[in-house]
Amino acid sequence: MSTTLCGGHFINGQWMTSEGKPFQSINPQTGEKLPTVFHGANPEQIAQACESAQIAFSKTRQLPPTQIAQLLEQIATEIEAAGDELLQMASHESGLPVQPRLMGERARTCGQLRLFAALVKEGDWVDARIDRPDPARTPLPKPDVRSALEAIGPVVVFDASNFPLAFGACGGDTASALAAGNPVIIKGHTAHPGTNELVTQAVQKALEKCNLPASFFQLLQGSGSTVGSALVIDPRIKAVGFTGSLSGGRALFDLAAKRPDPIPVYAEMGSLNPLVILPKAIENKTTQIAEGLAGALTLGAGQFCTRPGLIFAANCAATDSLITQIAQKLAGQKFCMLTPGIRDHFNSIVEQFATINSVKVHVAPEKSGAAGTGAFLLETDVKTFLTSPALQEEAFGPSGLIVRFDSIHDLSSLFTLVKGTLTATIHHDAADDTVEVAAAFSQAAQIAGRVISNGYPTGVEVCHAMVHGGPYPATSHSGFTSVGTGAIRRFARPVCYQNLPDTLLPETLRDLNPRKIFRLVDGQYTQNHS
Ligand code: NAP
Repeated sequence: MSTTLCGGHFINGQWMTSEGKPFQSINPQTGEKLPTVFHGANPEQIAQACESAQIAFSKTRQLPPTQIAQLLEQIATEIEAAGDELLQMASHESGLPVQPRLMGERARTCGQLRLFAALVKEGDWVDARIDRPDPARTPLPKPDVRSALEAIGPVVVFDASNFPLAFGACGGDTASALAAGNPVIIKGHTAHPGTNELVTQAVQKALEKCNLPASFFQLLQGSGSTVGSALVIDPRIKAVGFTGSLSGGRALFDLAAKRPDPIPVYAEMGSLNPLVILPKAIENKTTQIAEGLAGALTLGAGQFCTRPGLIFAANCAATDSLITQIAQKLAGQKFCMLTPGIRDHFNSIVEQFATINSVKVHVAPEKSGAAGTGAFLLETDVKTFLTSPALQEEAFGPSGLIVRFDSIHDLSSLFTLVKGTLTATIHHDAADDTVEVAAAFSQAAQIAGRVISNGYPTGVEVCHAMVHGGPYPATSHSGFTSVGTGAIRRFARPVCYQNLPDTLLPETLRDLNPRKIFRLVDGQYTQNHS
């Protein structure tokens, strides 16, 4: 185990400890506390971090894109250089295996940092728009109007428990906020403070090598209700990124809304991810779907925000066989959850489901060890699901609830009840009724950020077209994504310049288009000068 941790906060380029509430991370495999004692940041340290971020912003808001890109690439290099020590620490703190899971996560973390580097170097993301003037227009002359996206200001990121690297201190939220040119303050998750300290050491080296202000990236350890809340209400903070529970995300959203100057909180919260299996798909692909679904329900011990935990299965001849096959695959499996608290929360929700009349238990989990559990598989009918609001709660763990439906009308009622969700999946077959298939996809698109055909939602590709978002309560703002290059738009705001001399305009809006980016000039996309 590492001896390089100080258990402190990284504020304005310095590692500092504090006397705040002590805590240690717990190895969920063994239940043992890891040796480093961390303390919550105190109010002075929180204020200092916010002040430093604000000062950094005044220096970094006009950074050349090449310098931001260089930083993102260097962070990726330093995270890779942190080597086994980082992977081992993340594994000890999360219970996730190094191989293949954390190796894959590290590759994704560095891949998305490099993807954002490429995005800012290329430059089109700023969505530059130019409407040229017409002094001769009557009755009024038309002004010269130009706009582009610019950095929003210091951003606070609450990193996720379930992806300690890819959505950790330097995960997707941080990469997108830095890429837009914003200083970032991490409110480190209390489940993996050691991982966050090691990642921050990597970022510190990158900042030094790129000769950028150290307060472009800061880390505060401590609880959400004290450190996290204080950061969200600090007037120097201009936006928040969050991944976690609905209760946590909503609390922070409400806190930010009550500020004298409300700020956006981009919270990605729980999700049910309904997966529909139409009748001919069940009949013709029973074994294939049983295998795929059992894998998707249990991947990462079911602790994926995209786990398809709610399954609407057409009630046909093969449905019994489908359920039996999934149950056989889940029975007896053992999983280590991220924390004892997340395990207990999961088990209590599952137990609550099982007490509802007309809910049939096919596989029931048993607790074991510090954070161990089994999988669960439940089944119910349309009427019970429609009349039992408790069944619409996310059971964050290796679990699935199957609802059998008899008609497309039933399916429509089920869809109507499901609130906003990150994903919705339809399994269909060429022999299924094409009108019913189209109706299912249409309803899926009304509630989900991503709609999937004949697949599983668990893998989230980090790319340009990805939408990892969706209507509330999947997220606090359905207009955005937290994965993929579109995520950068959360941490930028459009600024419009009217009648400015060319030399005073940002480079992206100047007549000669020195960066050769695509711009909307008088309604036409072009790389030409204006
Ligand atoms: P969480 O409890 O919501 O915590 C996430 C972060 O928010 C942590 O830093 C936490 O601080 C902070 N926080 C929580 N409640 C807060 C409040 N009222 N005020 C201020 N800050 C607050 O999520 P979690 O610990 O990752 O997991 C718990 C549950 O979240 C899971 O059981 C699951 O339901 C859900 N979850 C969902 C996703 C998803 O992607 N949809 C991902 C992970 C978890 P502390 O460090 O002090 O706890």
